[in-house]
Amino acid sequence: MATKKAPSKAASKSAKTTKAAATKIAKKSAPSKAAASKKPNPKKAAPTRAKRAASGPSLSLHGIQPYESKKNEDYMSDKQKDHFREILMAWKGELMEEVDRTMSHMKDEAANFPDPADRATQEEEFSLELRTRDRERKLIKKIDSTLELIEHDDYGWCDQCGVEIGIRRLEARPTATLCIDCKTLDEIKEKLTTI
Ligand SMILES: [Zn+2]
Repeated sequence: MATKKAPSKAASKSAKTTKAAATKIAKKSAPSKAAASKKPNPKKAAPTRAKRAASGPSLSLHGIQPYESKKNEDYMSDKQKDHFREILMAWKGELMEEVDRTMSHMKDEAANFPDPADRATQEEEFSLELRTRDRERKLIKKIDSTLELIEHDDYGWCDQCGVEIGIRRLEARPTATLCIDCKTLDEIKEKLTTI
């Protein structure tokens, strides 16, 4: 810890005293150092635990808790239909908000670029935005037709083979009209035709 080396024999006396002072300081600071190195360990473990708890499967459910079926409960009972209606409505609400937000944002921005070069970049940006909005609008339409399926008791069964699509798959993909097997088969067929 001594910062100075004794430059000569004459100075060795004063060097001794500074050395002594240095060790005193070192002794003093030692306990606080040890305490500092001990402290962060228990705190480090906490955030990972909290993170794991926060990231559940509820993200894809648009804020709605996963459905817990009761024993002997019929598939697509009224309660289950309510559950999926809720998910679809929440999802639709999110999409509509998103569409509104970008439309008003684009209106605000549109007038702000007198420079042609800036305008070109802006137009590129806008067309990308518009494509995204278009996708979202199509999705909203799909959600609407899915809600209609629920009303007509036609929701939750595979369009191709008639089997139950299943609660968990529908929670992950609320607009699904095919069971996982038919969907997989469809994707394989699609790949084969594009080769
Ligand atoms: Zn099927």
